Amino acid sequence: MTADLPPGIERRRFDGRERFATRGEPVYGEPQDDAGWRAWDAGRSKLGAVLELGMDPGFDGEDSVLYLGAASGTTVSHVADFAGPTYAVEFAPRPTRDLLGVADSRPNLFPLLKDARAPETYAHVVEAGLDYLVQDVATRGQATVALRNRRFLAPDGRLVAAVKARSEDVLTDPDDVFADVLDELREGYAIVETRRLDRFHDDHLAVVAEPQA
Ligand code: SAM
Repeated sequence: MTADLPPGIERRRFDGRERFATRGEPVYGEPQDDAGWRAWDAGRSKLGAVLELGMDPGFDGEDSVLYLGAASGTTVSHVADFAGPTYAVEFAPRPTRDLLGVADSRPNLFPLLKDARAPETYAHVVEAGLDYLVQDVATRGQATVALRNRRFLAPDGRLVAAVKARSEDVLTDPDDVFADVLDELREGYAIVETRRLDRFHDDHLAVVAEPQA
């Protein structure tokens, strides 16, 4: 399956190779063409890998997004290029400083120096009824983070999470770790699709899910 692309994401040629691209200020040394499209590097971005592997989160180009684990903005910069209001939560001060720079040219990107395990600390800033919760926190308790932040999603919103097995448990087989994470996620979500991202990111599982009442 190939993702149905919203207006702000295109397939463009860079150095003779077709890649996904969004339009905006470059952030991490990615190539940019004369029309302002910049390559979305699937090797640097789990969400980029999700698209490259043909998963379709269903973005429509106007989506409101809460992004958890924004780091210095590699992926969330692409999201803000094609989406509507994009809230970007990161709890480490140093990457958040870079993230503030990324937001300079993106008025719809709102960096928040917050802990994603404590959504009540940003519930006064982040609107409810969001279209997407995108998560890449690479920390223990990834399912718990997704469940705690479900409150921000619209009933027909979606979770798109990259789950890193080694962040949960370095010794256990990743398949067993993913099974446990999916079991916990089912306490609040219906799983729509999963896909291993190993071609681009070792021992990562992408999960698309819908909130359940
Ligand atoms: N999503 C980023 C990208 O593609 O550009 C990379 C994210 S990196 C794999 C994981 C990030 O999650 C780190 O920057 C880490 O500081 C952040 N993180 C981990 N636990 C967190 C938490 N509880 N709250 C907020 N950020 C967290």
